[in-house]
Amino acid sequence: MPHRPAAIVSAMHEELRALLPLLNDRHTVRLAGRDFHHGVIHDQPVVLVLAGIGKVAAATTAVLLMHAYDVGQLVFTGVAGGLAAGIEVGDVVLARQLLQHDMDASPLFPRFEVPLTGRSHFDADAALTDALAAAALRSSGGRVHQGLIVSGDRFVASAVDSDALRALLPDALAVEMEGAAVAQVCADFGRPFAVVRTISDRADDTAHVDFARFIEEVASATTRAIIENWLLHARASAGPLPSGPSAPSGSGCGTP
Ligand code: SAH
Repeated sequence: MPHRPAAIVSAMHEELRALLPLLNDRHTVRLAGRDFHHGVIHDQPVVLVLAGIGKVAAATTAVLLMHAYDVGQLVFTGVAGGLAAGIEVGDVVLARQLLQHDMDASPLFPRFEVPLTGRSHFDADAALTDALAAAALRSSGGRVHQGLIVSGDRFVASAVDSDALRALLPDALAVEMEGAAVAQVCADFGRPFAVVRTISDRADDTAHVDFARFIEEVASATTRAIIENWLLHARASAGPLPSGPSAPSGSGCGTP
């Protein structure tokens, strides 16, 4: 089986712009309004793409990566608002589990449960997350946390809203707008994925202040350092990255 590429998906232009100079043998394919940049970083085949913002944009991008480009694994990078105590601006948070905080089909289904799946929490791949956490610890000056990340189609930018989320979901470390959608798609396809976020704000009334400058000056550099360290380490220690389950013959993807 040819070695499948790893997808590195950015929520923001600035992050993609920081990663693109690392990409060798680049060729770009445009599909569904997205530029999929194929190439090699530190000997590892990768696809870099901008997902856009929100759950639908992220899910569309993840489906295309699985179905059109048969990626073996997916790493989503971006920024997030810190929710739990001690999760501060500049820290890195990796998802161990993800949940859609705006999913609510109650009373037909329990709150947060994705209807007809029987689950509200989706697990990130443990080995991939371990590898990225190690890369984050090696490369970033900030603190590194791991746990529950919650996603929804809302930029949480008031103390009232973040207090409400903390009360409903006391385990949540951070809030963002894409991760749990990617998690659901990757669960459908049976492909490993991880979500790595740099904390850009505390999801309170000051969340919008200097947001753009933070992305440009801090988050993009943090993402690039973690991804580069991860790929370099994979090359030095383990050879090719894991490439997900075998595809059923005749199909381009590994549906369960
Ligand atoms: N002003 C930005 C829009 C950012 S939307 C622009 O013009 O591009 C917020 C992005 O950051 C999303 O990708 C989301 O996942 C993440 N994010 C950071 N802080 C967040 C918060 N407090 N609530 C929700 N999403 C947040």
